[in-house]
Amino acid sequence: MKRLVTIFSLLIFLSITISGIAFSNNITIAIKEGMKTLNIKKSDPNLSVLTNVSYVKLNGKTTEKYVDLIQEITGCSIGKGNLLFFHRPTSYPLKIVLFRKDTKDSVVITYKGNDQDIKMVKINIDGEKATIPKYWKKLEASLGRSDAFSIVTILNAWEKGAPYDFLKCCEFHNHLCPGVTSGYFIVSYILKKYPLKKGEKYIFIACPPWCKDDAIQILLDLTPGKRSLFVKQLSSIQKKDLPEGIAGILVKWNNKEKKGKGVVFQFNRKKAYEEIGGVKIRDFKPKGGKSNPLFWTTRIKVDWALMPYLNKPEMFISTIKEFNVTYDKLIKLTLAGVNPYNVIGLTSKH
Ligand SMILES: [Zn+2]
Repeated sequence: MKRLVTIFSLLIFLSITISGIAFSNNITIAIKEGMKTLNIKKSDPNLSVLTNVSYVKLNGKTTEKYVDLIQEITGCSIGKGNLLFFHRPTSYPLKIVLFRKDTKDSVVITYKGNDQDIKMVKINIDGEKATIPKYWKKLEASLGRSDAFSIVTILNAWEKGAPYDFLKCCEFHNHLCPGVTSGYFIVSYILKKYPLKKGEKYIFIACPPWCKDDAIQILLDLTPGKRSLFVKQLSSIQKKDLPEGIAGILVKWNNKEKKGKGVVFQFNRKKAYEEIGGVKIRDFKPKGGKSNPLFWTTRIKVDWALMPYLNKPEMFISTIKEFNVTYDKLIKLTLAGVNPYNVIGLTSKH
């Protein structure tokens, strides 16, 4: 009898263990199969991985354990800078993208938590080919519009040697677009021209907001929740009164002395997008919007064109105005319903 119980409990233990193994085994098999498809070995310097694991949940469970699994099989790691992440909501399917930079081939694995339903797509994601509308359509059809944009832009930025802090901005924003690059420029410009002195902190008024503000959050740790980043939209009438490309207001604030210095920035879109990027600004908003490939290919073209200038922010960012900030002015700048450019006298009407 005792022997029977032992065997019985051993069987239960085995079946639990086996189902546990089977669970991660299918993803293991998929990743190994993907590497075979790409004809690449573990730790090959051409290999990188982009994934949303640790952001998404599977069957109600968080997915951080897959970080180790991916690392183990591919040899890619966070420390080597070739295991990259992209932000997605928790309800999103799990995605693991294997990419080899010498051929630009990729294998995209999609897993929704059902072992019988693991999808694998092999596709070439060359960043130059992605600027051709016809090829962009193919990428969209195979990967879905939003995943195609995330995968193509982040992995090709890695291939082109983007610095890791830049890739962190892309991770949070979930893709690379010229707006993120402009945010990277603004932060580099701030750190060069307006470094903090003892007792000071930054406050940023993101007005009007665009993709840049996600880079500002990541690189300066300024967030709405900590009331160090205030996001304010402008109406088209309000925008008309202001210089083109007006990007926001930085306050260097000394809380002990209750005073600070304010700076207004401008981003030179014409130079970045038309002169360097080689596109027409109007093509950022083409007829048909996002369903027109031009919407995406214009952004991707400018992404690559701006990459060699990441450490030359002053080519694109300038200071429009500097001013002193009192406690009362700081409060006014941040309040709802107040146009901050009226507060500092840059505009007066709306
Ligand atoms: Zn964007």
